[in-house]
Amino acid sequence: NKTSSSNFIKHIVAEDVKTGKVSEVVTRFPPEPNGYLHIGHAKSICLNFELADEFKGKTNLRFDDTNPVKEDTEYVESIQEDVKWLGFDWDSLRFASDYFEEMYERAVLLIKKDKAYVCDLTAEQIRESRGTLTQPGQESPYRSRSVEENLDLFSRMRAGEFKDGEKVLRAKIDMASPNINLRDPVLYRIAHAHHHRTGDAWCIYPMYDYAHPLGDAIEGVTHSICTLEFEDHRPLYDWVVRECEMEATPHQYEFARLNLTNTVMSKRKLKMLVDERVVDGWDDPRMPTISGLRRKGFTAEAIRAFCREIGVARAYSTVDERMLEHFIREDLKLKAPRTMAVLQPLKVVITNYPEGQVEMLEAENNPENEEMGKRQIPFSREIYIERDDFMENPPSKYFRLFPGNEVRLKHAYFITCQEVIKDSSGEVVELRCTYDPETKSGTGFTGRKVKGTIHWVEATQALAADFRLYEPLITDEADDNGKPFLECINPNSLEVQQGFVEPNMQEAKAHDKFQFFRHGYFSVDPKHTSAEKLVFNRIVSLKSSFDA
Ligand code: ATP
Ligand code: MG
Ligand code: MG
Repeated sequence: NKTSSSNFIKHIVAEDVKTGKVSEVVTRFPPEPNGYLHIGHAKSICLNFELADEFKGKTNLRFDDTNPVKEDTEYVESIQEDVKWLGFDWDSLRFASDYFEEMYERAVLLIKKDKAYVCDLTAEQIRESRGTLTQPGQESPYRSRSVEENLDLFSRMRAGEFKDGEKVLRAKIDMASPNINLRDPVLYRIAHAHHHRTGDAWCIYPMYDYAHPLGDAIEGVTHSICTLEFEDHRPLYDWVVRECEMEATPHQYEFARLNLTNTVMSKRKLKMLVDERVVDGWDDPRMPTISGLRRKGFTAEAIRAFCREIGVARAYSTVDERMLEHFIREDLKLKAPRTMAVLQPLKVVITNYPEGQVEMLEAENNPENEEMGKRQIPFSREIYIERDDFMENPPSKYFRLFPGNEVRLKHAYFITCQEVIKDSSGEVVELRCTYDPETKSGTGFTGRKVKGTIHWVEATQALAADFRLYEPLITDEADDNGKPFLECINPNSLEVQQGFVEPNMQEAKAHDKFQFFRHGYFSVDPKHTSAEKLVFNRIVSLKSSFDA
């Protein structure tokens, strides 16, 4: 089922539209600009944008920028770029900080209604007095402050008369509530910090649980979709909307966040990898960030198809990372030209081929997609083949090159290995082969058959290239053993091989994608590629058990 029939939220929205409960569907994607977006965010982005789209509604991109210390404009910019790249266009770009004044006024309203009070307890004391699931909390001694005193203190909090942590504004709800979130939650805290948008205009900042419902209500969001951890916060969400007397009444719905095998998705941990230079930036191809996946060579189409397939549910689950790989193979199968690259070269001299002669051979660009046409590739007396396409003492059933054996060179001729050249350490450095001109590809030669076909590139015109092959940065197993996070890094997460590609790759640009015969799908790396050398990232190998 490719149309995410498991999307329970869609059923709710459809019902709300049908009954006239909402006239226009409005959703939002609300990232905190404290890091780059990752594949988990993509799930939320696709859900919010596609839902509104389906019901001809609107989606806002709203930055939840209520925590100035961790936020930065670099993140604000990268998030916009990534959402656009994924193929979505927001109706309106908003910032929670746009609403600081209105949020403040609503807080004053709460105080006037005796629904909020200024509390002098420390964060630690507040935590301790909140009680547990089995024990009610204890009321703060400041809970009975008069409305006048609270109004005065709150305005002085705003004016900067108190230090960080000296006072907070708390909702006055119920210290005995079975839901701990309703035990007088903090609405505002003091933070003398520079905000990336409001500068030093504020030294009090609203908490997420207060700012989020107000932002939703101000924007007329109808369906506020968040992850399951916020389920217990929903009564507080409704309390804020009601008690602040908001005109619109948004509703919160929760779904299970995306987890992928062998993939770290916490922004805090991803930031650690960047800060400690374990990776070369947020867009390192090993990162599960949107920018990392893009640099590795993933397409927006593949990511969207993946998000659609995994669907939206309320049950926690972990998706196999091979599922994501399946969708990039599917997307590139007909789009990517199929060419030859030799990752670990071994020189082959074809002794009976005329010296100095170069001929051009014709090769299809994609046998599954004729429209991609054909190209010309050079062939001569010297070529490179893959080191592991030769074995001096092969096991039985080895059909590639070994002394005396004949194989087919893809798009070219049959060659037979006649001689093995070694250096003083005994390492094979060159093969001497002969070719049979009768066997030229495309001529319909049927005289005899060979079992192995290997790829190659002509040696004098081949372009040097680096191939960067990846494994997970941190495997689930390693992350599970209780060691500090940074000690769990896979030492083999990146392997660089230096080889060659066909000369027609001269024109390849950053992000161009290819299928290299037998090696998988690769994309030109935008950071490392230079005028001197092409650098390719392996997106994915050709097959996994998932595609079988
Ligand atoms: P972190 O805890 O790593 O900081 P976050 O959830 O706080 O992540 P936000 O920037 O607040 O990150 O997330 C923006 C939106 O993306 C939220 O609505 C959140 O629910 C959603 N989201 C974040 N991670 C995932 C995930 N793994 N799967 C689905 N949705 C996610
Ligand atoms: Mg967060
Ligand atoms: Mg968050």
